[in-house]
Amino acid sequence: MRHMPGFLPLHWDAKSGRLYLEIPRLDADMLYFDSLPYGTGSNDLGLDRGQVSAAKLVRFERVGPKILLVRPNEFFRSSAPDAAEQLAVRQSFPESILASFTVAAENPAGAGESGAVLVDATDFYLRDVHGVSEALSKQGPYKLDAARSAIAIDATKAFPKNTEVEAILTFVSEAPLRGSFVGEVTPDSHALTLREHQSFLELPEPGFTPRRYDPRAGYFQFEYRDYAAPLGAPLDQRLIVRHRLIKQDPHCAQACVPIEPIQYYVDRGAPEPIRTALVEGARWWDQAFQAAGWAPGTFRVDVLPEGADPMDARYNIIQWVHRFTRGWSYGHPVADPRSGEIIKGNVTLGSLRGRQDYLIAEALLSPYVTGKKLPPESDPMLAMALARTRQLAAHETGHTLGLAHNFAASAFPHLPSESVSVMDYPHPQVTLDRNGVPDLSSAYAVNIGVWDKVAINYGYRQFSDEFQERTALDAILGDAARLGLVYITDEDARPQGGAHPFAHLWDNGTDAADELTRIMKIRAAALARFGENAIPGAAPLATLEDTLVPLYLMHRYQAEAATKLIGGLDYRYQLRGDGQMNAAIVSPPEQRKALQAVLKTLSADTLTLPESLLKVFPPRPPGFERTRESLPAETGLTFDPIAAAESAADMVLGVLFDRERAARLVEYNARANTPSLGEVIEAALQLNRAAPQAAPATHRGLAAEVQAAVYARTVEALLTLAADPKDSVQVRAIAYAKLDDIKRHSDANSPLDAYLVQRIKQFQNDPVKFVAAKSIEAPPGMPIGDDED
Ligand SMILES: [Zn+2]
Repeated sequence: MRHMPGFLPLHWDAKSGRLYLEIPRLDADMLYFDSLPYGTGSNDLGLDRGQVSAAKLVRFERVGPKILLVRPNEFFRSSAPDAAEQLAVRQSFPESILASFTVAAENPAGAGESGAVLVDATDFYLRDVHGVSEALSKQGPYKLDAARSAIAIDATKAFPKNTEVEAILTFVSEAPLRGSFVGEVTPDSHALTLREHQSFLELPEPGFTPRRYDPRAGYFQFEYRDYAAPLGAPLDQRLIVRHRLIKQDPHCAQACVPIEPIQYYVDRGAPEPIRTALVEGARWWDQAFQAAGWAPGTFRVDVLPEGADPMDARYNIIQWVHRFTRGWSYGHPVADPRSGEIIKGNVTLGSLRGRQDYLIAEALLSPYVTGKKLPPESDPMLAMALARTRQLAAHETGHTLGLAHNFAASAFPHLPSESVSVMDYPHPQVTLDRNGVPDLSSAYAVNIGVWDKVAINYGYRQFSDEFQERTALDAILGDAARLGLVYITDEDARPQGGAHPFAHLWDNGTDAADELTRIMKIRAAALARFGENAIPGAAPLATLEDTLVPLYLMHRYQAEAATKLIGGLDYRYQLRGDGQMNAAIVSPPEQRKALQAVLKTLSADTLTLPESLLKVFPPRPPGFERTRESLPAETGLTFDPIAAAESAADMVLGVLFDRERAARLVEYNARANTPSLGEVIEAALQLNRAAPQAAPATHRGLAAEVQAAVYARTVEALLTLAADPKDSVQVRAIAYAKLDDIKRHSDANSPLDAYLVQRIKQFQNDPVKFVAAKSIEAPPGMPIGDDED
């Protein structure tokens, strides 16, 4: 057998294909996690290359001939010194035995030693620990086939502090579903082969100091329950997740050198010039560490040395991941479940992101005047895509430092070039030059932001004692609040239901309504220039409609942001006595201004594409069929400007007539005389009742048809609001009354009115059985940020 010495030594029997694991010490705690070195390349299956599980605390225990891999329950604890109190907690909640082995060989224990044991771990390593079968279950019945699975000995290694084992696993199905996502990415959808990896890792040495969680500080929470907490004290113990960072000289005050810097590595698989952009963007974080009292170079990023394995548990990794379709990038901290200490930062960056940014820039600039591609050194699209890549590398790396999103950052007053936080989702800051041409030269800010420095100061500054730490941490957050820096994260920024007037995704500007008005001007200017020049010479002309998507829908996120002012509430994560403002309903004038700006996005003027452009679009040629990124069409192969308008309208109507917003409109109107739900509904209906401005004399005109379509979508949105049993009773009542109103004032000569009256009657006759019309899905077209934690 081949012997691999290390943390848990391995013995490989090549003849039988069996892998033996040596356990030098029983009952010793260690960390354990799994990962996916070879993924499915499918955004829909959600199994990306490099995906990592959470870290678990485990130990090997022996019962007679059995060796059990035990995962104790780390969430429920007792900090009491009394052993009986600790046992009471341990006996009250279950633990998990993850695996069982039989002893294959053992060292006779010497005096006082537990004796090393050797177990056959082949089956343990050939199981589907990452849960691939479950992820594939909707694609047909996939089962792991042991015959087509094997230990990947090339990637199996033991190091002094960690043992890494990889397996080649094949999931088979007799009857894969036709058209399944597996079929999109696998040569033969009967057999999907990938690799799973398992790591055992020595516990970090003592010396890490947890830091308390504060909802104002911008960190992910690490939480456990301490049943020894006195009555009246919190049961839930809240800490932040963070890396270990300790000063060499404990008395050092500024530019302190750490015992060990935080080192990240960028995947060699990322091509240039992206690889360099990833290193540059992630390195911005060193600025924040310097601002928190650390020496330059405390946070380091380099390209992963040749031959190093990115799945090695010891490395913080920024991975470059390819997928069949566009999807999320994410950053994930793997933390010690005892303390919240981050032991591995793991960033996954989707490679299609940059291509989408490039497409957005092409749509905005229509740059191919001569039909020729631009040389890299003078290509503004490439420059924008790389600027975004730096920003995204910093963003996802920020998550792996323990930081949550700050979606309010972009509303803090700042110059376009200044960075408030890389932890927001940035929308490109587009301006118009003197000739009315979109300018992308400062589309994305550079460097780490002022908020990011606050957050790193909170999580990583080292203090001389506990008392100093408590007051200093409060002061850091107090100073930030006095500066006007607001931290608001995910749940408050949701487009549906979210109420915060500053916390939005992919927005810009201190006033969301003003910025929407500005964006609509840029959209109009770019649309006026849009045409053949948006695609390079000899590209199929029909692909122009794909380039149009991000421009036609350019306003979608800023429209969401402005809509959130309507029925909005401004607030902070306030602690009693911290001096921050009380929650305040957005004022009536601000709400009405936002409503006017949002309604413009629903007008026929905005949504009708000019005939000069429509006549350029041919139907799609064979081989260039529509994808999920295309605008919808109800006209078959030909471009459908009316369905495109409906799709754009649905995006806004879904947010405007969200049930939670509607309920707040009722409440805030009663409390603060803000616009009522009835006023908002009436404004949306009025918009499309008047004749469109540019109607031709000879025929109906496309604008009239677009207007009719948007009007019908508005009525459908009201039907959804009236029909949803989860809505507040007042919301349903008001929506119901408005529908009745529409019915009574309908025009008997209008076919559309007759149809809508019929829809309303259907609903009124049987509200329980009524099925709301499916909204016309907008393509994922725009997502400019595309990421999650
Ligand atoms: Zn994120």
